[in-house]
Amino acid sequence: MSRTGLRKFGVMAPTVVREPTRDRDNIPICPECGHPVPKTKGSQRIEKPDLVNVVLAASFDELVTFGWCCDRHPYDIVLPMRAGGSDAGALLDGWTGVKLRFSDEHVRHVPVPEREVSEHVE
Ligand SMILES: [Zn+2]
Repeated sequence: MSRTGLRKFGVMAPTVVREPTRDRDNIPICPECGHPVPKTKGSQRIEKPDLVNVVLAASFDELVTFGWCCDRHPYDIVLPMRAGGSDAGALLDGWTGVKLRFSDEHVRHVPVPEREVSEHVE
């Protein structure tokens, strides 16, 4: 069933979150199918994010991050831009880094709008 079809019935599967890879020309590609994804760069939504911080985990059913996505799969797959640490703002103005458990069980920082995080934490 297509994603649109599932949405119509209100079924939200957790988004698959993977680390983006790059081809030899340094173009971001989907790690699952190798499809180039540079044109999808922008805000992405992660359904049911596996956040490490319990306060944030309880607050977010859906998380906005910055990076790429690949639409060639029967599920949503988001490839967040690497946020070195909690100071993603150095990279992207107005964004901060939060720890998220990716689909490979590794925890990495992903960019999240600073405003959304401070609303929930303070
Ligand atoms: Zn793909």
